[in-house]
Amino acid sequence: MVTYRYRCSGCGSFDLALPMGQAAPERPCAECGGAARRVFTAPALGRAGSPLSRARAAQEASAHEPRVVTRSAEPRRPAPPSDPRHAKLPRP
Ligand SMILES: [Zn+2]
Repeated sequence: MVTYRYRCSGCGSFDLALPMGQAAPERPCAECGGAARRVFTAPALGRAGSPLSRARAAQEASAHEPRVVTRSAEPRRPAPPSDPRHAKLPRP
């Protein structure tokens, strides 16, 4: 079974699980019975546990569920040079 997505102009999109190759370009809408057109989406290839997909999921989630931080994200300034002669060197 493959999940196909259809979109009804009135009700929005819905998913249907159909045998592979059985997806018609149009199907009756699950809610109103009107014509719903097939929408082509990226295939779910079962790589949900891979490090890449976990990183993508975390990045996606951070867009709408940002982590609460307790300290500033600004980088710390480097410590002043401990050798007093370094203070006389020209600064960029
Ligand atoms: Zn509909």
